[in-house]
Amino acid sequence: MTPECPVPLAAAVLSAALLLPGADGTRAADPISLALPVACEIGKTCFLQNYVDADTSAKWQDYRCGAQTYDGHDGTDIRVPSMDEQRAGVDVIAAAPGTVIATRDGVADVSIREGTRESIKGRECGNGVALRHDGGWVTQYCHMAKDSIRVSRGQKVENGTPLGRIGLSGNTEFPHLHFSVRHGETKVDPFAYDAKEGSCGSGQSLWNEAARAALSYRRGEVINAGFAGTSVTMAQIESGEARRQPPNASSPALVAYVRAIGLEAGDVLELSIVAPDGKPFAQQRQPPLDHSKAQFFAMVGKKRGQMPWPAGTYTAKYNVLRDGQSVLDKSFTFDLPPG
Ligand SMILES: [Zn+2]
Repeated sequence: MTPECPVPLAAAVLSAALLLPGADGTRAADPISLALPVACEIGKTCFLQNYVDADTSAKWQDYRCGAQTYDGHDGTDIRVPSMDEQRAGVDVIAAAPGTVIATRDGVADVSIREGTRESIKGRECGNGVALRHDGGWVTQYCHMAKDSIRVSRGQKVENGTPLGRIGLSGNTEFPHLHFSVRHGETKVDPFAYDAKEGSCGSGQSLWNEAARAALSYRRGEVINAGFAGTSVTMAQIESGEARRQPPNASSPALVAYVRAIGLEAGDVLELSIVAPDGKPFAQQRQPPLDHSKAQFFAMVGKKRGQMPWPAGTYTAKYNVLRDGQSVLDKSFTFDLPPG
């Protein structure tokens, strides 16, 4: 399954405003400087899921010539790990000083996997905000939470002004912000402004120093990991349900699960559990991935026999091997109380 959120701001009410030149009608002399558009910590509480597609053909490629994008994607997707974090609330904030030129609110937070494309036709961006900045620059913020928009048209904003919260509205199947940048009518990749196609890392970053550090390119990340007392699904990880089913002494199974993003073709995944007595409990090594995976789910464990699960600390180890080297690893534990 590929997380997607194609076509950001499509509604006429927003697109008309997006074509306006800069406030003073002049062309930009200087590139815009962008701050992080979310109030969360990249790599810890939120994650970069998709970059702009830098490839103009039917294939796709991110600005570093990796596969962390999909065909035609025109923004930067910053996600939260599950709907639990979405419901707790993560602010979307202005990436630069400017003026609000369009807003939309009132679109339900429903995954496109549950609704229909027809139901969000013309509202693919969902709840959103568009800001105009000096020099003809525009930033757009999509898929925000219903009833969370906190600014109105014509309002001036500063760097970091809260605009609303990350949501699941419009054409999306996972909770995230789709952030896009335009100069005049041209869509721009904030990681690689004015890059030559296929040049793998050329072009200019529009991010300010702090954002650039936070958004350093990562080739794979673990975004969810835990133990459960029954087998779990990717949908239960997305909804947050998976973490509400911890094992106990009499649970029907004892499993460890991991969801990672940004995996590459040829990656080999290993996941194992060590029992409280230090002996192997369960292990799995998967064949090399046949192609890159926007997200990938792994689970290992056992069904219970007649005896209760022994109390104590269970340790899970997750490891991704790429070209024989470990490129991603995570250990996590669960303390099973006596039955
Ligand atoms: Zn997107």
